[in-house]
Amino acid sequence: MSAVAATLVSGYSTHLVINQGLSLLPHTYTLFSAFSNFPSFLLKPYSVCLVKMTQQNVVVCETKSGINKPIPKPPAVPGGYIPISRRRVLKNLEINGGQRINAWVDSMRASSPTHAKSTPSLLEEHNSWILRHPSALDMFEEIMDASKGKQIVMFLDYDGTLSPIVDDPDRAFMSNSMRKTVRKLARCFPTAIVTGRCRDKVYNFVRLAELYYAGSHGMDIQGPTRDSKYNKDNKGEAVLFQPASEFLPMIEKVYHLLEEKVNSIPGARVENNKFCVSVHFRCVDEKKWSELAQQVKSVLKEYPKLRLSQGRKVLEIRPSIKWDKGKALEFLLESLGFANCNDVFPVYIGDDKTDEDAFKKLRDRGQGFGILVSKFPKDTTASYSLQEPNEVMDFLQRLVEWKQESLRARPRV
Ligand SMILES: [Mg+2]
Repeated sequence: MSAVAATLVSGYSTHLVINQGLSLLPHTYTLFSAFSNFPSFLLKPYSVCLVKMTQQNVVVCETKSGINKPIPKPPAVPGGYIPISRRRVLKNLEINGGQRINAWVDSMRASSPTHAKSTPSLLEEHNSWILRHPSALDMFEEIMDASKGKQIVMFLDYDGTLSPIVDDPDRAFMSNSMRKTVRKLARCFPTAIVTGRCRDKVYNFVRLAELYYAGSHGMDIQGPTRDSKYNKDNKGEAVLFQPASEFLPMIEKVYHLLEEKVNSIPGARVENNKFCVSVHFRCVDEKKWSELAQQVKSVLKEYPKLRLSQGRKVLEIRPSIKWDKGKALEFLLESLGFANCNDVFPVYIGDDKTDEDAFKKLRDRGQGFGILVSKFPKDTTASYSLQEPNEVMDFLQRLVEWKQESLRARPRV
């Protein structure tokens, strides 16, 4: 009986995940060594329950050839594409550091490229970027060769990956054909949605109970609730992991304050994503971005325990705990029993900066690969690229067909 993952953040509330039949009694204090890169933490009594995902429930491809074959990587070319250094911009965004609002606005522009590259030199740069991050569709065979003998686990961002980016975040619906494809995908591989959105909201968009959902940038994780071969032994119970639950009242308050503050800015939209707040500026005139940044900053300076990050036309306010989409990916892999396995092949597909934490985690682990969804060159740790959700759907469909084909090709015993 071993604890796969227990959690975290000393002083925050109750989170735990267990595996291989382990169950913990409520209201006990236990010290675990959870993730390899986390120190042990004293667990507080848990209030939510959970879990059992065992590796024997996972279908493992039996083909052994190519197990140690390296993942095909595009040629390494130093340097990024977006001219403003990401590290520098993020440093400038420290909320209480007194930085110029212009730095915020620069960063907002850098996070939200919108203009097609058309001049000869930009075209050249685009071609150079594609060489470094080739299309995952063009590289499909090579990618599959690298995955042979390993369990593919799929991680999918939602907005801009499974659904098109739209002006109204409440109307970011995914198509029926995408839903069908993701449903088939989940029959072939463990599949998780990892999003900045509130988990309930993204579930209402996706409506597939057989998936894992990591909402609020991974701060709200739930496993399949029914009909999942990966969660057979937990009828009616699912993984639930919320490492930032103590921040809920603060987030709620900040949400209302931000709503009040940015109300006067036409097009601005504040979204409560439970463990984080999103300020959308997709419909805000660029001339008003500075005013918007000022308003957001004026609220956040009173909340040093919150931090700000950026996505595509969105400012994200979240608890300053060491938790992000990369940690969520690692947590889910551990929950599935792949804590120290070499035979797992995680694939993460996402379209914005917050997905970079997951891409980087895969690079650091030396497992699987990341795919950035973008029509424009961006500074990224992802290995491959796809241009838009339609290409994501094509890639997922090919994965399903590849899996079905490999099952048909297996020798009968
Ligand atoms: Mg996205």
